[in-house]
Amino acid sequence: MVTGKKDIKPVKKRYYRKRVPVFKLIDKIKLWPSRTGQLHGIRSIEITGGMARLTTHCNKEFVINNSLNSRAARWLRNKWFAGVCPECGVPGWKLEKYSATLFKRHHGSMLLKNKD
Ligand SMILES: [Zn+2]
Repeated sequence: MVTGKKDIKPVKKRYYRKRVPVFKLIDKIKLWPSRTGQLHGIRSIEITGGMARLTTHCNKEFVINNSLNSRAARWLRNKWFAGVCPECGVPGWKLEKYSATLFKRHHGSMLLKNKD
């Protein structure tokens, strides 16, 4: 029988640059805030030029551009969301990781060395 909490470690903070490319960021964190503020889990991201098609775990598709100033890019950097999509079933650890993610102007990864 499991009692109480076990293996609770503080989540390691991760730093990204404020100007980290939006597509790379989404590919990394696999989360997407919809227009209504619902956080979806991303199943796949397909990048074509300046646009990307996101497919969520609840089978919704979003076509987005890579603008750093877009609503969603701002929401991601500020880690705003109004709720979590019940169909996507975003696990708690992923949300914890997200909340431990920090965006800095002069410090952190630009995610440019990722293997695509
Ligand atoms: Zn969803």
